[in-house]
Amino acid sequence: MNILVSACLLGVECRYDGTGKEMVGLKALMKEYHLIPVCPEVFGGLPTPRMPSEIQPNRRVQMKDGKDVTQQYEKGAREVLKLARLYDCRYAILKERSPSCGHEEIYDGSFTGRKIPGNGIASELLEKNGVKVFGESQIELLKSRIEEEAYEYKHGRVTK
Ligand code: SF4
Repeated sequence: MNILVSACLLGVECRYDGTGKEMVGLKALMKEYHLIPVCPEVFGGLPTPRMPSEIQPNRRVQMKDGKDVTQQYEKGAREVLKLARLYDCRYAILKERSPSCGHEEIYDGSFTGRKIPGNGIASELLEKNGVKVFGESQIELLKSRIEEEAYEYKHGRVTK
């Protein structure tokens, strides 16, 4: 099974500040699954390092200096979806709270550290297209969902 993963969680230094955010537990998943690393912000044409961005209340994405980068975020999301389809990924593990990858919680657009419910641009597009997104703190939940789905499939309750 192929699973999309935020590249920074594998230690790739593609974050806005030029660092990665390697997550030790994630590499253990490579024994059981093929992890497909993606970085929507880089796929959208943004440089690394880059100024931090946040999603505004009107769903536009702005850098801290006010520059609108919505187009780059949307392009990056589309490229990630393209790979999800190419590799038949039904699950993704994405970096929590990122304006691209965040799942269920993001920053509120004020650059003050305040969080609100919501998804990042790539995360949202994946979910709308049937990819189940999990944050990096939800790996155990993801594994149990995959097991449940495999059980149901085996017993004829789910058709892929
Ligand atoms: Fe990581 Fe996603 Fe940000 Fe790329 S866009 S650095 S993969 S959180």
